[in-house]
Amino acid sequence: MTVKTDPILRRWTLDEVRDLYQQPMMDLVFGAASVHREHHDPNEVQMSSLLSIKTGGCPEDCGYCPQAARYHTDIEENALMTVEQVKTAAERAKGLGSSRLCMGAAWRNVRDDEEFEQVLDLVRTVNGLDMEICATLGMLTPNQAERLAAAGLYAYNHNLDSSEEYYKEVISTRGYQDRLDTIGNARQAGLTVCSGGIIGMGESIDDRLKMLLTLASLTPQPESVPINALVAVEGTPLEDQQQVNIFEMVRMIAVTRIVMPNCTVRLSAGRTTMSPEGQAMCFLAGAGSIFAGDKLLTTPNPEAFEDLEMFNALGLRPTAPYAKGKKPSITDDPGAPGEKTRIKWSRPGHKIERNEAKRK
Ligand code: SF4
Repeated sequence: MTVKTDPILRRWTLDEVRDLYQQPMMDLVFGAASVHREHHDPNEVQMSSLLSIKTGGCPEDCGYCPQAARYHTDIEENALMTVEQVKTAAERAKGLGSSRLCMGAAWRNVRDDEEFEQVLDLVRTVNGLDMEICATLGMLTPNQAERLAAAGLYAYNHNLDSSEEYYKEVISTRGYQDRLDTIGNARQAGLTVCSGGIIGMGESIDDRLKMLLTLASLTPQPESVPINALVAVEGTPLEDQQQVNIFEMVRMIAVTRIVMPNCTVRLSAGRTTMSPEGQAMCFLAGAGSIFAGDKLLTTPNPEAFEDLEMFNALGLRPTAPYAKGKKPSITDDPGAPGEKTRIKWSRPGHKIERNEAKRK
């Protein structure tokens, strides 16, 4: 199939993206690389850092996640990090070349409590360090999104994980529509959107492509799309899943690049088992970012010096902060809402046998 490089966004059908995905690899990568060059500098790759500001003890049942309290994993629950701790970690990440910091908290949803006030302080602090600041805190109300935007947050991450159908095979405690609503709330508040998924959870190729179609149908499309390869962690329901093949990752990145030409495609979890050559193919296919640092929230990641060697060997330059958007100013906090505006998020509550089998 001939790849259209027309910058005018268009709606793709499942048949079309299936045809794209199934092309001979060289045709697919060439097409994706052509789109990438039209919209991005192919020799720039953003280094981002992911910092777990509140680890473990999560009440949800996401089948891939070692931070879910109900599974037998080695993760210990930690209190929310302080401003000083986060500032130190952010400065270290910046010193190692990261221009973006994503702060993750193992929460189902944000609550209007003291911990959220502390998160707002963390956002204000990192904003002052001239790094793009992203947060992934679970489901978010319109007011909470506005407060984060006023604190100087640049992006909100909320992954769709998979297709709507396969999502129900992985997570039973939170609904797909709530995820879309959270993305909408972030967008409405003026935040940029980061949303992607995980491959290698047992889903079909069609599930992966349907997820991309859902993301591509958002108006505007997300500015940032992380593509993760599952890191199967012992003790989680997905511990026995096979590692995805690098070529599946390349195909997924290439199709993401073509259907969402303006976004930054992030080569995210799973890099420890990818060779520099495999990662180079991902960059050629349109990946414009990696997560740097030896930890990705709680799972392992390549050491900083290995990434530096790879960047040098490939002649890649790390992207500067706010290369694709304006730095947000810190404005007056609109404050917490009254009791009546509280949102009740859904609890689908269906049974997923493999998740049940791993409960403590
Ligand atoms: S992915 Fe997030 S919501 Fe799901 S169990 Fe892990 S920390 Fe909780």
